[in-house]
Amino acid sequence: MIEIKANDPTLKSWIKVPENSDFPIQNLPFGIIKINGGKPRVASRIGDFAIDLKSLFILGYLDNLPFTLEDFDSEYLNHMMMKGKEATRKLRNRLSKLFRDDFDDLKNHEHHVQQVLIPMKQVTMLLPVQIGDYTDFYSSEQHAFNVGCLFRDPNNALLPNWKHIPVGYHGRSSSIVISGTPIHRPKGQMKPPTANQPTFGPSKLMDFELEVAFITYQGKLLGDSISTKEADDYIFGLTLFNDWSARDIQGWEYVPLGPFLGKNFGSSMSPWIVTLDALEPFRVPGPIQEPKVLPYLEYKGDKHLDVNLQVIIQPEDGEENVVCNSNLKYLYWNMNQQLAHHTVNGCNINCGDTMASGTISGPEEGMYGSMLEISWKGTKPFKMSDGTERKFIEDNDTVIMRGYASKNGVRIGFGEVSTKLLPAK
Ligand code: MN
Repeated sequence: MIEIKANDPTLKSWIKVPENSDFPIQNLPFGIIKINGGKPRVASRIGDFAIDLKSLFILGYLDNLPFTLEDFDSEYLNHMMMKGKEATRKLRNRLSKLFRDDFDDLKNHEHHVQQVLIPMKQVTMLLPVQIGDYTDFYSSEQHAFNVGCLFRDPNNALLPNWKHIPVGYHGRSSSIVISGTPIHRPKGQMKPPTANQPTFGPSKLMDFELEVAFITYQGKLLGDSISTKEADDYIFGLTLFNDWSARDIQGWEYVPLGPFLGKNFGSSMSPWIVTLDALEPFRVPGPIQEPKVLPYLEYKGDKHLDVNLQVIIQPEDGEENVVCNSNLKYLYWNMNQQLAHHTVNGCNINCGDTMASGTISGPEEGMYGSMLEISWKGTKPFKMSDGTERKFIEDNDTVIMRGYASKNGVRIGFGEVSTKLLPAK
């Protein structure tokens, strides 16, 4: 595989990138944009500009790369991603070259620059990938422990399989929406522990789950498996992911087959896919796994990622309230183990599949990734700056998740996933 030249921390761009931007020249994520309501197309981003890759291709700046016009003239990234990791790495290296300050091919063509760089104000972001299958894991030990304490007891919090299996379930891909798309409070059946009969109505316990999702390249054939060692080659990039959860619907329905209507009414995704390549400098060791995992789950090297994560609740016309500061590095099971486990039975994966981490809770209070844990099942309400309290999410609250990695003066961010909860229909 070729070198990732685009990650050089000393690189500077001839585009002015605001300080603390999530999108310096070392990021160069991928997404789908619409410019002033035009047709969707593939884009990257630097500072406050979208980079129109369709125009860049037509102007010849992406020559001698393994791509065709339809890879960029597309409403999803899947076409481009079908070319595989080596190809997208070359593309990102090329973008890095075109925008670095000591290379002036594009820089000196003022009319080309105007065609290619679109101010973000003129851009609408769309769902970046056509998602065939969505899987949700349950890979944060603190989250699994907290939930175990809330519904069982601290001595019996983790179920016997938890440290042996990256537990997960198959979710609903059709209801994954892009940041900015409001979601209605779902209705359903619920039965509070004190009630004798189930009732029907709007969920009273609406919650977010702070997650990060990875998006896959085309996998292997049905019957084949991807090892922990091979997994990096099948992971295109990562997004922030809010796996909305109706706790009361979930609590009544989940036995014995697991999550269903408490989950499938919607999940929200951030628009820019930050490549795994761009995140390579932020690798860190994971926790020591004890008991020892089975051989197919063993891995070598640092496979966890140090990415700061934050959750904010913003009431209508109100201030932002930070309710959680966590980090992707707190996962017990890493993406390589998740993907190896997912395919060990021969299950195939496809280009654009979305695999979410599960709620990412850190080891201390203030680091919990859901209201269920923050309010400890409603017993410790969160005090908001406007004097109100939150046990769960109220109608017209907006939930915002942000994330970034930072090292050697380079900050690689995800932007945000922001979703307003509307009243039940
Ligand atoms: Mn989840």
